[in-house]
Amino acid sequence: MLLFEEEILSEALPIQTKAMLSTSAPVSGLSAANQPALAGRVNAQDKRVINGQTDVNQLVPFKYHWAWDKYLAGCANHWMPQEVQMSRDIAQWKDSTALTEDERLIIKRNLGFFTTADSLAANNIVLGTYRHITAPECRQYLLRQAFEEAIHTHAYQYIVESLGLDEGEIFNAYCEIPSIRDKDLFLIPFIDILTNPKFKTGTLEADQQLLRSLIVFACIMEGMFFYVGFVQILALGRQNKMQGASEQYQYILRDESLHCNFGVDLINTIKLENPQLWTDDFRDEIKALMQQAVELEYRYAEDTMPRGVLGLNAAMFKEYLRFIANRRCQQIGLDVLYPGAANPFPWMSEMIDLKKEKNFFESRVTEYQTGGALSWD
Ligand code: FE
Repeated sequence: MLLFEEEILSEALPIQTKAMLSTSAPVSGLSAANQPALAGRVNAQDKRVINGQTDVNQLVPFKYHWAWDKYLAGCANHWMPQEVQMSRDIAQWKDSTALTEDERLIIKRNLGFFTTADSLAANNIVLGTYRHITAPECRQYLLRQAFEEAIHTHAYQYIVESLGLDEGEIFNAYCEIPSIRDKDLFLIPFIDILTNPKFKTGTLEADQQLLRSLIVFACIMEGMFFYVGFVQILALGRQNKMQGASEQYQYILRDESLHCNFGVDLINTIKLENPQLWTDDFRDEIKALMQQAVELEYRYAEDTMPRGVLGLNAAMFKEYLRFIANRRCQQIGLDVLYPGAANPFPWMSEMIDLKKEKNFFESRVTEYQTGGALSWD
């Protein structure tokens, strides 16, 4: 029997894992970030978010409670796309009088951007960010986040399929529609750095590259590039149009808001533990990237709204994007870039906090939480 179990172990475990279990010698081919520290027990104070030397396989003792709390919050927010009714959306899409051509353009452009954006996000986490982060609490959140990105891609696919849209057109929009392509071309070099197998942290230059990519991912991609699309689809829902799609976007917005906040905490903790990275030049570079991102997202707003639609117009988004950029700068300790910019869509903050009231669309209770997170008293 024992022999049989050993055989299973031998079959199932990769060579590196087998080596870890049989010897305390360093395992070649594994970076410090993935190396178990067999020499002793982990002290919480020794943990580091990057370049840590403690065993990444030991989640506890906790040091980064903010990461664990966000992991729990993400799990409590769990949802699946196919639980959302799409029948009214399908009827509206088929009814030539229910939606204007401008509204249809918004839906198609939105799906064109998001169907591939969340795949980029997932690949960035799984193939890039994850292996450079040495705090197991943060890795735990990243695993949850990666699954949420998959759920979002699933949601967009579900909407595309439900409405019977041209899949080739939607899934290729990131190559074929310039305003979408330009946003992705801006992002891809920062993702490529982290997913390059040769990239390793541990020098000032490499650690700044990592921090820069994390800022672009959390504050610009998830924190800015998603927001024109979110406002547009949620504005449709507020006018009783495409409510199934809007409801899904509401859940996605809630998830993305948590992703962005996790990213901000991650960035600020790396700054705190590695203050040498936050140089004047580095800060100037980040500000320039933020300004470039505002321009790119504004061009996307103009392209998706050639005329006013749903009470929205591109000029309102210029103000909104400046407001968001200010917020992201403040969150990571930079001065605001656009003093005085105001939020033209105050209703968006209600959309993020679904716990407050019943669903805006009244299609179901929005306090969608899994059983383990609900209070039963
Ligand atoms: Fe995300």
